[in-house]
Parts: sequence; C-alpha cells; structure tokens
Amino acid sequence: MIRHFFLVLLLAVAPVTAGAEPLAKQLFGAATTGSDQRARAYGGYAKGCLAGGVQLPQTGPTWQAMRLSRNRNWGHPVTIDFIRDLSARAAQQPGWNGLYIGDISQPRGGPMLTGHRSHQIGLDIDIWMLPARDLTLSRAQRESLSSISMQRAKGAYVNKRWSRAHHEILKAAAQDPRVARIFVFAGAKVQMCADETGDRDWLRKIRPWWGHHYHFHVRLKCPRGSRKCVDQAPPPPGDGCAEAQEWVDMRILKVTPPPPPDPNAPPPKPRRDLTLSDLPRQCAAVLSSD
Ligand SMILES: [Zn+2]
Repeated sequence: MIRHFFLVLLLAVAPVTAGAEPLAKQLFGAATTGSDQRARAYGGYAKGCLAGGVQLPQTGPTWQAMRLSRNRNWGHPVTIDFIRDLSARAAQQPGWNGLYIGDISQPRGGPMLTGHRSHQIGLDIDIWMLPARDLTLSRAQRESLSSISMQRAKGAYVNKRWSRAHHEILKAAAQDPRVARIFVFAGAKVQMCADETGDRDWLRKIRPWWGHHYHFHVRLKCPRGSRKCVDQAPPPPGDGCAEAQEWVDMRILKVTPPPPPDPNAPPPKPRRDLTLSDLPRQCAAVLSSD
C-alpha cells in the first residue's frame, strides 16, 4: 500500500520534472572552486565555460579584487597574467597605485545567476574607473566602496573625473597583444580620439557600448591551446573614431537621425536561459571534475 502510494506520487510529479533540464546558471553558479583540469576556455564569451580556472589573488602588489563575496575573481591563467601586467603599468600613473578589479568569471565560468551575459570563459575583466590609491582595503570595504562614473550627458562626454591617466591605462590595455577589444562608454572613446596625437592603431580596439562608465571591460583573445574557444570577429578596420562620434550623435544626443532599420535583418531572437546542453560538450566535464 505504501509502495503504491509512492508510485502514484512519482507519476504525479514526473510530468513536471521530466525534460526540465536545470539551467546552466544554476549549475555553474553553485561551483565554488575551479576545476582540477588543464586551463582551457570552451565556447564563446557569452556561451561557454572555463576549465582549470585560477583565482586572482585578492591583493597583489598593484591590485585589489573587489566584491569578494561574489567569488567572480577567477580567470584563465592568461587573464591573471594580464592583470598583473596592466596593473603594474597603471601604478606608474600619477595618483594611481594600481587597479581595482571587478568581475572576471565564476570559478568554472559559465552563465551567472545575476548580471553579465558574457564573462563566461575567464577572459572578460571589469576594471574600475576609480583610481586605486589604497591597496589595503579590507574585505568589508571592498563590498561597500563604489567606483565613480566618468560620464556626462548620459555618456555623450566624459566628466571632470576623467584624466589623462585613464587614457594611458586604456591605451596600454588596447596595445597589449592579448587584448581583443575593450568596451567603454561612447563619450570616452570620442575623448580619447580627440586627445591622441601619436599612434592611433590601438583606438580600433576601443569599442563604444552602453553603460561602462563606472568600469571598462577588457576582453582577451582566445589563448593558445584553447582550440574550442570561439574568438569574436575582430573590430572593423580603422580607428573607429567617426563611428564613436556617430554613436554619440545618433543614439545619445539624437542630433542626427538613427540609421533606417535593415529590411533584411532577421527578427530578434528571444533570449532564453542556457542549459548545459547549449554549452560546448566539454562543459559537463568541467562541472563534474574535482
Ligand atoms: Zn563586463
């Protein structure tokens, strides 16, 4: 009788759970440590995972990782090396002793329960615009301290907090061969375009985007050895300065009309939460590894 009861219960519950695959963000959001594997980025920046992720030391000679409670200071070893190098460069700027590092990735990468769509393969880094002077912040201070915005007029221009040091740090990042692109608000790119009197090639990697006035976002290229890592197409040729001005004029100031909609553009795909089977197949092993 009792056995029969459970059978009925099971059948009653089964249709609800059958086929309901857990969401990838729940699985990857639950991982608290990196996988015991060789470091590999699998898939794309917004659809992938990270094997052998390394934790950025919470405090280094020229950086502090912020918001430690999020446990998103994990990246590919190339990313950790990059942060060491860029933060040492930043420390040479007047008023800066290094960098405050925001989100990188979860310990095993993958989609997150809150926030970012990208940052899934340990190669995206958010870096605070706030000059890192004090590198002795406590854990609690790293939760409560906020970065500062650099934008004016909804991102059409930089404000008075923007400095030549910001220009030099973004320039150093963009000139690094490991870097694919850097996302920052459009007004900052326009300013850098106006202020740069030397080499302009690096400006190509600076890409205007919404938000990104409290931090800039560095995206690294797929590292050697990560054959299943999917690079983004390189930015279009040229310094992109006219396009940045166009972004400001059309989308922010709205002083010029927006481009007409492309009649051949496919309808926008509704976004749905990723499941494990949406990700590269290696991501299952990343999850189940020690
Ligand atoms: Zn970001």
